[in-house]
Amino acid sequence: MSFNSLGLSDALLKAISKKGYTNPSPIQQKAIPPILEGKDVLASAQTGTGKTAGFTLPILQLLSQGKHLSHRPIRALILTPTRELAAQILANIKEYSEFLDLRSTVIFGGVNQNPQVSQLRQGVDILVATPGRLIDLQNQGLISLSKVEILVLDEADRMLDMGFLRDIERVMKVLPPKRQNLLFSATFSKDIKKLAMGILHKPVQVEATPENTTVDAIIQKIYPVAKEKKTELIIKLITEGNWKQILVFTRTKQGANKLTESMISSGIKAAAIHGNKGQGARTKALAGFKNGSLTALVATDIAARGLDIPLLPHVINFELPNIPEDYVHRIGRTGRAGASGEAISLFSPDETTFLRDIEKLVGLKLPKENIKGFEPDPNASTEPIKQGQGRQQRNSTPKKPKTDTPNRSANNSFGPRRPSQNNDRRSNR
Ligand code: AMP
Repeated sequence: MSFNSLGLSDALLKAISKKGYTNPSPIQQKAIPPILEGKDVLASAQTGTGKTAGFTLPILQLLSQGKHLSHRPIRALILTPTRELAAQILANIKEYSEFLDLRSTVIFGGVNQNPQVSQLRQGVDILVATPGRLIDLQNQGLISLSKVEILVLDEADRMLDMGFLRDIERVMKVLPPKRQNLLFSATFSKDIKKLAMGILHKPVQVEATPENTTVDAIIQKIYPVAKEKKTELIIKLITEGNWKQILVFTRTKQGANKLTESMISSGIKAAAIHGNKGQGARTKALAGFKNGSLTALVATDIAARGLDIPLLPHVINFELPNIPEDYVHRIGRTGRAGASGEAISLFSPDETTFLRDIEKLVGLKLPKENIKGFEPDPNASTEPIKQGQGRQQRNSTPKKPKTDTPNRSANNSFGPRRPSQNNDRRSNR
């Protein structure tokens, strides 16, 4: 199938061809036609499938066909969980709308609001926003959403994880009731289904990859390793493999910092990216990673969310995530838009339950490969990591975890929702 057959305008086709895309990805083939017909869409798609263009292209077409009002009220609102994702979506919108008379901007927290407010005052057709800043500006009376025709909830699962449910509900109250709604999510928990039922009207359901399964093009390997030898092993893999661009995941911010320091001492150009880093440091690290001046980017799950790094050859899980869905998100960073990639997990005996849950979720037994000299002691304890050691333990009473990953207990069977979830979400971004 070609982009021509999707019914997109010449201005959009020109922008697509400038981007170098030849064929629409599966999610684009499935999502673009119903969106153009004005239908609500519930899409299962993870980052890397081309989902951003999947909703952006038809929105641009609908808005450019619609009535232009001289003061340009916001007609499309795109809500996303993180600043990085918001900035990335705006960058895509700008590229795709190059040959259209549409204005777009982005708002997110952690930076001065004044430049954002002055952009809004000049009038924008499309607004990309993180929920916190949107509510702030709304409360200050600096933003009007009364003319919104299209709403997108992108990475809805992550927005719920980050405690944005109440903010989303507040935004819904100020939107016109008659509008088109698009919801994108990588995973579908009960909470997401409930949210979708409350917002979407007779949605068309589309899927890029089957629910909760991993992308076929990704080669997944598990290297069993003694916990204390993980750092040595990762340095060996990167150095001996002469790998050039590696995204590494840790469970905690402290873990990310520590590993980054060790890598730098071994001569690997590395930087950490997590919720405690300022926006400037995060942007700089990401830019360095993209332009090749950094070899390794060490990230926590939250920080990595929405990063647009095309054709990433290697993803390494330095530690397995305690939330199985995060494994799917992490490895979705490789093998993007049809390219193949390798996802390696360093697995220590204390992560046995995490691995079991991941295999259950993806429906696969992941192949294990021993590396000589790094094998764990066969008698090592498989007891899960204890809370208080910078890890979050399952089935424990709600207690503020030290991970950079918010508790997902509301979505799974790990226990009750942590009461502080809403309050500390900002520190996690
Ligand atoms: P996304 O899933 O939206 O984050 O997109 C993942 C990556 O795929 C981005 O780098 C896009 O620029 C790229 N991409 C999106 N659509 C296509 C396409 N039809 N052909 C090739 N690359 C694409």
